[in-house]
Amino acid sequence: MIEIQNKENCTSCFACYNVCPVNAIEMIKDSEGFKYPRVNKEKCINCGLCDKTCPVINNKGKAGYYARPKVIAAYTKNNHIRLDSTSGGVFSELAKKIYQENGYVCGAIYNKEWEVEHIVSNDIKDLDNLRSSKYLQSDINNIFTQIKKLLEKGKKVLICGSPCQISGLNNFLQKDYPNLYTIDFICRGMNSPKIFKGYIKNLENKYKARAVKVKFKHKIHGWHNFSTKVDFENGKSYIGGRYEDSFMIGYLKYNAFMRPSCYNCKFKGLPRRADITLADFWGIERISPKMDQNKGTSMIYINSEKGQKLFDEIKENLVYEEIVSDDVFKENVSMKRSVEMTKERQGVFKNIDKLSYKELSDRYFPEPPISKKIKIRIKNNRVAVKIKNILRRIYKNIKGE
Ligand SMILES: Cc1cc2nc3c(=O)[nH]c(=O)nc-3n(C[C@H](O)[C@H](O)[C@H](O)COP(=O)(O)OP(=O)(O)OC[C@H]3O[C@@H](n4cnc5c(N)ncnc54)[C@H](O)[C@@H]3O)c2cc1C
Repeated sequence: MIEIQNKENCTSCFACYNVCPVNAIEMIKDSEGFKYPRVNKEKCINCGLCDKTCPVINNKGKAGYYARPKVIAAYTKNNHIRLDSTSGGVFSELAKKIYQENGYVCGAIYNKEWEVEHIVSNDIKDLDNLRSSKYLQSDINNIFTQIKKLLEKGKKVLICGSPCQISGLNNFLQKDYPNLYTIDFICRGMNSPKIFKGYIKNLENKYKARAVKVKFKHKIHGWHNFSTKVDFENGKSYIGGRYEDSFMIGYLKYNAFMRPSCYNCKFKGLPRRADITLADFWGIERISPKMDQNKGTSMIYINSEKGQKLFDEIKENLVYEEIVSDDVFKENVSMKRSVEMTKERQGVFKNIDKLSYKELSDRYFPEPPISKKIKIRIKNNRVAVKIKNILRRIYKNIKGE
């Protein structure tokens, strides 16, 4: 029976919850806002399926995934989708294809409480909500069970989730289905839904209205200098650049509110465990400058024959280029390495119920002062960045690199 002794060993993939034949497992939030399984011992029949299905305990990966994936830089030809997506909008093109074939798309959306959960959808109208990264942990609930039922009825299903979620699904299904397409992404880590709620509440107080839309990696100031945009019911909007927004500072600079398992992630590196892996193609401005217009470029790993087939079916909707260089595996550090545990993270969760979000932010992941914010804006101004890139290329040419 699954018992979480060390929180690093549970990713909250919900595989045990889905596999339990007697519904003896509940997923319970801890004080940090992350969910963990709890077994009702009176209901449990000791079948051991929960332990067998856990992808942390049984982390073999699946046969048939390439040890060295094919790497492609790509973005959708649809400018609206590209600008509305986190990277190059490849997820939306894949999803559109599955919808057109009367299949089902499974991905993460915000619910009314500003929590994130996975849904299964056969209505393309859901795509606007599915699109975009939500940088907090998503609840799978009973989605794996729903997916299995659809697969057994012969329906096509595409799921996009974190590497641990996809590994959990693979273990839950125990066999490959030709009608299942899996997508994961290179993942820096999952933030606490409780902290995110504090962040939204803090902004709602400041703007004196309810938040109605949140978009991370908004491209209003360009993809390289991504921003967070929150729209409010009163028509006002908050926009915070990546170096100014407290949530992004806490996430990217201080690693201040990720799930314990993300600091020692067991799902990094190659081979991957999904047919396709998506990521931001950081470094594309140096590797293939023509693929970068500062509007978002996706890195696609083709990890299996099925992944190649799916890519071939959508490639006419993409501008793409195969990249043959080992540098691509070096540029995106989250592919191989977990982030480090920090004293700021320890401070945040020690005080999460004592201090307000604003007080936590001021103490552990502070926004820069106004004068520094102005300097950051000037430094990351689009024109300045372009000039910097040109100078960098000239310097490299002179050095003969
Ligand atoms: C928590 C998180 C961390 C990431 N870290 C990195 C990183 O370090 N480096 C990097 O290059 N890329 C990272 N990515 C991936 C990147 O942000 C893009 O999601 C990816 O490149 C796909 O972009 P897109 O434009 O094709 O599609 P998008 O439309 O942006 O992708 C949308 C799909 O991603 C899935 N998704 C979104 N949020 C979640 C969530 N919280 N949990 C599970 N699934 C979710 C959904 O199914 C959604 O439909 C991360 C994504 C997430 C969600």
